[in-house]
Formats: sequence, C-alpha cells, structure tokens
Amino acid sequence: MLHTHLDQNSAKPLPVVIIGNGPSGICLSYLLSGNIPYVRRGSVHPNPILQRKLEETPEVSILDQDLEYLSEGLEGRSSSPVALLFDALLRPDTDFGGTADSVLTWWRQPNRAVPHLVLGKNLPGGAWHSIEGSMFTLSRGDWMGLPDLQFKDWMSRKKKGFRNNRATAGDIVQYYQYYVANKSLKKNFLCGTVVTSVKSLHVDADYSSQVSRDSSSRWDLPEKPQDNSKETGKLFQVDGFVTTINGTQPFSVYTENVVLATGTYDSPSWLGVQGEDLPFVHHKLSALEDAARTKEIGTMSDPILIVGAGLTAADSVLFARHCNIPVIHAFRRSVNDPALIFNQLPKTMYPEYHKVHQMMKEEVASGPGLYESYVSLPEHHIVSFTEDRKCIFRDKSGRQKVYNISMAFVLIGSNPNLSYLPNNGVDLAADCEQPVSSKRNPIDVDPFTYELVHEKGLYAMGPLAGDNFVRFVQGGALAIASSLLKKANKNPP
Ligand SMILES: Cc1cc2nc3c(=O)[nH]c(=O)nc-3n(C[C@H](O)[C@H](O)[C@H](O)COP(=O)(O)OP(=O)(O)OC[C@H]3O[C@@H](n4cnc5c(N)ncnc54)[C@H](O)[C@@H]3O)c2cc1C
Repeated sequence: MLHTHLDQNSAKPLPVVIIGNGPSGICLSYLLSGNIPYVRRGSVHPNPILQRKLEETPEVSILDQDLEYLSEGLEGRSSSPVALLFDALLRPDTDFGGTADSVLTWWRQPNRAVPHLVLGKNLPGGAWHSIEGSMFTLSRGDWMGLPDLQFKDWMSRKKKGFRNNRATAGDIVQYYQYYVANKSLKKNFLCGTVVTSVKSLHVDADYSSQVSRDSSSRWDLPEKPQDNSKETGKLFQVDGFVTTINGTQPFSVYTENVVLATGTYDSPSWLGVQGEDLPFVHHKLSALEDAARTKEIGTMSDPILIVGAGLTAADSVLFARHCNIPVIHAFRRSVNDPALIFNQLPKTMYPEYHKVHQMMKEEVASGPGLYESYVSLPEHHIVSFTEDRKCIFRDKSGRQKVYNISMAFVLIGSNPNLSYLPNNGVDLAADCEQPVSSKRNPIDVDPFTYELVHEKGLYAMGPLAGDNFVRFVQGGALAIASSLLKKANKNPP
C-alpha cells in the first residue's frame, strides 16, 4: 500500500498506521479489513449471563456493541475485560478443557473497511520469527490461533500434530503467514520497515510547515488533513526506513491514528557488569543457534555459560545439550524458589522444562559431575567477563569463582524498544517515571478502546498494553477496531 501511495503520490493521510506485524498487528488488520463479527444464529454460549446479553441485539455486530457492558463480570486469566470477552466468544469453554466452536460468525463488509498500513521489520509473525522453530509453545496450540481460522484446522490440513496440546514456534510462524495470505491482508503489510520516529503534529501549525520543510519526504501531502484529524487537531508523522530489493530508503507517512504493536522482545536485558560488551557475550538465543551451526562451539569447546532461569534460558540448555555442547548454567534464584517458572508449570504438559529444572536441582544436591557436561550454579551473580574468556562469579556466601568459557548467553528477559517515541515512550506509561514494561508498567490505555490515556489518536496493544499471550492480545484488536470504526463513523446502515 505504501508503494502504491508513493507511486500515485497520494495526497491523503492514512486513517491508521499499525507499527508491528506480529499477532497483534495481524489480528487488527483482519478486523479493519471489513471482517465484522456477529453472533452466530443458534449458538449458545455456556456463560448464561453473556448469552443473555448476546441475545439482546443479535443483529448488531460485536464491534458496534457496548464492549464494557458485554464484558462486565467476566473472569479469567487476563485482567483486560475486552480480552476476556473476545476470548470467551472465540473459545467459549476452553479454560474448562472444552473445544466448543466459537459463537461468532464473520461477515465480509468491504464498505466498513478502514484503510490501514501495517509496518514491521520482518515477515508477518512478529516475535515468533526470533524463536527457534523447533521450540514448543508454552500455551496450548489452539490458543495461538487468530479469528476465523482455527490453528488446529490449519495443523490438520498440513497433516501436523500437537505434542501435549502444544505446537512448535515454526508452525506458529507459518500459520501467521498463511493467515495473512489466506485472509487477503498482504496488501496492507509493508515488511522490511523500521520505524524510527512517531511525531504528533498540530494540524494547522506543524503540519503545513512540516510538509514544506520535508521536501525530500517520500510522502508529499499538499492538501490539509481529512475531517477526522481536523476534529481532533491531530495528525501523526511516522518516519523510518524501508528495505526492498532496490536497497534501503527513508520514508515518511502521515496518519490520523497510530497503533503501537511493537511487542516487548526487541531489547534483551543486560546484567550491567564489566565486560558484558565483549564479543563472546551474547543476549539472544539465536546467537547460540548460529554459533552451533557455524561450529564456532561444539563438544570439545570450553563450556558455554547460560545466565538466567526463565524459559528462554531453559530452551538454550536444552538446545546446547541436544548439540552436546558443555554448559555452565548460572542464575540468581534458589532452585526451590516458588517464583521460579518451573515451579509453576504442570509436569505432564512441560516434561522438557521439568527435565531442566531437575538437572538444576540434582546437580546441586548430588554435587558436580552427575550430569556430563552440565554444571548448575544457583544463587550465583556474575561479577565480570574478561577478555581472555573468563567469567567471574560470586556465590551466596560472597565467595568468588572463575570459570573458563567459550561464549556467554545472558538470557534474563527483554524490554520493549520504544526509541521511536519521544522520551522512549516513558511519558505514556502507567507510571510516567519508569520505563515501559509489559508486566510492571504497561502503556496506559483506556480498557475499552485501548486508546492512550495521555495521547489521543495513539493506541497500544499486545504486551505493550499488558496483554502478554497471543490468546489475549486479540481483545486489544477488538477494542481498537471498535473505537476506530466509531471514529470513522462507519456504523452499520
Ligand atoms: C520465547 C518466547 C515464547 C513465547 N511463548 C508464548 C506462548 O507459548 N504463548 C503465547 O501466547 N505467547 C508466547 N509468547 C509471547 C508472544 O510471543 C507474544 O504475546 C506475541 O508475540 C505478542 O504479539 P505482538 O504482535 O504484540 O508483538 P510481537 O510478536 O513482539 O511483534 C512485534 C513486531 O514488531 C516489530 N517491531 C518492533 N519495533 C519496530 C519498529 N520500530 N519498526 C518496525 N517494526 C518493529 C518487532 O520486530 C516484531 O516483529 C512467547 C514469547 C517468547 C519471546
């Protein structure tokens, strides 16, 4: 769409630009493309209160109903009422182990489509591109699906099966790409795009001066903005780079609304210790996969160091063991700490993570040497890395130890990269003094529209807005699409 606009030198700002092409951006693009959810005739929701509410106006699409009223009183594994509502409509009894069909039916209503552009660094699929393809999801596979195309149906069409109800990251990524193609969303997606800045312009002052100053802008806007932006006096300028077969070029688009859907996995957390920037210290699991593939490390190397006790660190331990690479595994918590993720996962569903936890525990209990090529160092802090590939640790009694390592992988979580927003988006968070964090300090949004409390015309969804699972990011899409349709006054006849 961007290229079409460039070719036609279009004069109009876009109604919506979505930044981020993961499950959040894909789901929202589906809803904004004129795919409108209605309650399926004859369907009965197992929640009698919700069922009664749904019966009140069956001819009105869910997008046009009062989401606050519909979602009132719903309970579940998300704190977002709209996320619970959409999930309940798509997967009515899933938390009780049921597999009842969705109570929704989808109508294609092109006259209600809201033109939009989805920008993203990679191919559609978001964070799932950076997760090793053979890794299994934490969630049940059928919770990874997007509206109106069940993941399990796609899996059976591909003659693939779940393991313990879980799917691989590779399958998820393929499904998301299939979804974009199958739902005819491709025209809205511009991949290979990195957004470097989002600016709010004041229509009368900033807008005209900006356009004349930016004569090299790829988007010239000779006209004044459209009606909606006049109403709010707002317009956004989104700048960045797009890489195509012809090379990398800057671009600048103008839009009335921006949706932030960039997730929280782009900036890995650092320990903040000396030597952490040395070339053998990495912060991504993909670096381990690359090093194993290129044979930079192998069975005969000094051990690699894996730092962290989360699932990504556990995935790396499993990967290294699969490749027979010796491992030192260091983490701050005690192996029996109830906050450790392994202590919260049912054993039957996650045998591989329990295997790692068992190794972490047994290696300590029985002393070193129980597991060949695996050393567990609980309650250890990293003091520093040295140029000759040594790592200095401090244990809980304050003693220092030194180990030779071949490479280090610090896998202790990640943070959103909001460098494209003024002040890294801190002003938009629930606590404006602290950096944005999906768990501790998400972007402050209205719970029923997902529009930012501090900046009208800006929306946030997914982990940025505190919805951490694919199953629940979809509620944000419902809320935003409903709000944008109301703004665009695209009400049904
Ligand atoms: C290892 C791991 C395992 C997980 N397992 C599960 C699971 O089992 N179940 C589950 O439900 N969830 C799981 N998640 C979480 C899940 O990945 C997220 O909930 C989901 O991907 C969020 O979707 P999103 O579209 O909001 O963001 P993302 O999927 O993160 O996509 C955002 C995209 O925006 C891009 N982007 C960022 N900045 C810019 C920019 N400036 N310009 C252009 N593009 C940009 C990013 O590169 C990314 O591709 C897991 C996550 C990880 C890391």
